[in-house]
Amino acid sequence: MTTVETTQELKQNTFEMAIDWLAAGIRPEDSILFVQSHVPEVLELHTYLSMVTQMGKLTDLPTFKEKISQQPDNVNYGLLGYPVLMTADIVLYKTDVVPVGIDQAPHLEFAREIVRSFNYRYNTKALIEPQVKHTEILKVLGTDGKAKMSKSLNNHIELASTPEETAARVKDMVTDPARIKRTDPGNPDICNVFSMHKIFSPADEVEMINRECRTAGIGCVDCKKRFAANLNLNLEPFRKKRAELESRPDYVNDVLSDGAKRARVIAQKTMEEVREAIQLP
Ligand code: SF4
Repeated sequence: MTTVETTQELKQNTFEMAIDWLAAGIRPEDSILFVQSHVPEVLELHTYLSMVTQMGKLTDLPTFKEKISQQPDNVNYGLLGYPVLMTADIVLYKTDVVPVGIDQAPHLEFAREIVRSFNYRYNTKALIEPQVKHTEILKVLGTDGKAKMSKSLNNHIELASTPEETAARVKDMVTDPARIKRTDPGNPDICNVFSMHKIFSPADEVEMINRECRTAGIGCVDCKKRFAANLNLNLEPFRKKRAELESRPDYVNDVLSDGAKRARVIAQKTMEEVREAIQLP
């Protein structure tokens, strides 16, 4: 809501994200999948946590600075208070471990500080300090090869795209900038296409590209075609499952509403402890 303009767009984005998660393999039987705003307790906790959060710390966060440079005409409180809401969203469910990429690690450290301040001020152990668990791939760069892959920067490869759209995005990916001509040797160590190959391509192909790129044995056009083909192969089962879920919106909505019920039980319990710690009636 800090960036989305219409409620319809927000609803659509929420649905799309839910089917992405489900298609990627999240099993609602094992994991509670829900929409943040379906558990209103998060807003109450956000308010209490904002009382133990210093403004200077929020304005100093690199992600806030990045956001205000991206949308200078809409620097709203939601952007500034986002890390506090995120903290509430984590600790409301007694979360002890959060999987994050490298960029989110400072946010999680910040969340831990907020928890410590709250617990100290109210002399309680009601909130748990969440621990970081780094994801296997620490940072996925976008097609520009510079910033983290992000929809708002339009440097992303959409999981739900068609194979043709995916190939077109890959074709535009930035490679080793020093490699101008086909005959120039390249350096895969600084090439984002190569880092993606390492995730999606078979080991022997990765080895071949690593070798041949350095001697100009393979050109970037061919290398990208190979990557697009491997990526599409990897995404095929995901796309199939996603298309199936897209045609079953009632099932998806049931999963989300069941998830919210289960999440709310945990949230209400936490809020009882929080209110007791603050000694609110
Ligand atoms: Fe990157 Fe592949 Fe081109 Fe080498 S051949 S610079 S790894 S795109």
